[in-house]
Amino acid sequence: MENWSKFYIDGKWVQPASQNTSDLIDPATEKVYATVAMGNEEDIDRAVKAARQAFMTYSKTTVDERIQLLKKIHAAFVKREAAISATVTQEVGMPIAVSSGFLLDWCKLHTLETIEILRKYAFAEKLGTTTLYKEPIGVVGMITPWNFPIGQIFTKILPALATGCTMVLKPSQLTPLDGIIAAEILDEAGVPPGVFNLVNGDGRVVGEAISQHPDIDMVSFTGSTRAGIQIAKSAADTIKRVVNELGGKSANILLEDADFETAVENAVGNCFFLNGQACDAGTRLLVPRNRLEEATKIAARVANAYVSGAPSDPQTTLGPVMNATQFKSVQNYIQSGIDQGAKLAAGGVGRPEGIHAGYFVKPTIFSDVKSDMKIYREEIFGPVLTISAYQDLEDAARMANDTVYGLAAHITGKDMDKVRQLSRELRAGSVFVNSPDLDPKAPFGGYRQSGNGRECGEHGFTEFLEIKAVVGHG
Ligand code: NAD
Repeated sequence: MENWSKFYIDGKWVQPASQNTSDLIDPATEKVYATVAMGNEEDIDRAVKAARQAFMTYSKTTVDERIQLLKKIHAAFVKREAAISATVTQEVGMPIAVSSGFLLDWCKLHTLETIEILRKYAFAEKLGTTTLYKEPIGVVGMITPWNFPIGQIFTKILPALATGCTMVLKPSQLTPLDGIIAAEILDEAGVPPGVFNLVNGDGRVVGEAISQHPDIDMVSFTGSTRAGIQIAKSAADTIKRVVNELGGKSANILLEDADFETAVENAVGNCFFLNGQACDAGTRLLVPRNRLEEATKIAARVANAYVSGAPSDPQTTLGPVMNATQFKSVQNYIQSGIDQGAKLAAGGVGRPEGIHAGYFVKPTIFSDVKSDMKIYREEIFGPVLTISAYQDLEDAARMANDTVYGLAAHITGKDMDKVRQLSRELRAGSVFVNSPDLDPKAPFGGYRQSGNGRECGEHGFTEFLEIKAVVGHG
């Protein structure tokens, strides 16, 4: 890719101000496959100036002009589908079945949904003698993680473009190629110069420069709670809006009447999705006490059937975790589960049998996990499922809510009255009932330390708008 050493600023591929570069390591082989440019404060400053300038005209474009632009983005995305899947599979080790399925569907469904929202959205409304105008907030700084890379980029750039904002994107330093692909798509679609700008780099320098920049009006961040706290602090001096989409430790509750064979299989699949690195994964499976043994047996059998291997092989169902740091961290969690007395039902420390390179973790199931264990409380971000027993539904809700996070919860059961009642007890931004399909209308975001604000759907769209009240308008 010719643009690996450049940034996309003001509609052009430009040389970075900084000479710094970073090697990208394939998590499945531990081999370097690319070297990319890393930016600094000067690059961000240049990108923000371009975005500020472009905002003057882009914020005045009509709804129809922006709908046409989004349609062209959709078409440019579809042209690159095969390249996108292959890139993501190499970058993060996402099994090709996922990167050529769910990931692409996510981007396309959200593009089409954004077009629908934009078509219908009331940017002006009457309220007494007041007219309320919803106006684009301005220049948005976007900082994204690596685990669902182009998906997270699209989740931010679509509503920003639709509402008339301009933007500066810093993708994760581990997945910069996704930002480059996104820039190429927007360039081909004819997004005007300066509306979208890309600067690659790390969080400490480039991310921090975005959070602090006085000419950025909003930061849209997705990543760890640790970084979200730092970003909120750094952004505080300039009172910019901060939308934080952070980590989670979500519960997955099986009701007594669930079909356990399917429900436990789905629960393992949900936890192991994205190689165990999905922010909303149901990593704590909660089952009725008298079904603990049965659930554990099914989960172990399902986990042992996972196929670890080259992510580009369609047979592979579990790829590696992201990098050496992540691998070490997940290994430490598994060891802590063993040390703290959880029952290891499948997997354990070390690589899966027969695999000698790559950051592959054994698909791991712990049972009879107690609420004071580290593996029950902390976000592991690897293919490690904990199973715990509850007494009754009140106990299940209490256990699900016993966390500093509140990103998601999952419920499987047949009695919909019970399911609905339980869903209202859970302190989480999303409750997924009976393993539903993706609904692009559903907003996504967290309670408590999982963040604030929402992405996706109309609620995600409105995050990019300011409200102006023209009082006495008649
Ligand atoms: P991370 O916080 O390490 O990095 C995310 C991004 O923030 C990267 O671009 C990084 O460079 C940047 N960053 C790091 N420190 C920064 C700082 N001090 N200032 C500014 N930017 C900074 O997270 P990650 O490891 O890339 O992603 C995994 C985490 O993301 C998990 O905790 C996961 O739960 C969370 N996540 C949340 C959601 C959600 O929608 N809630 C979605 C996906 C991932």
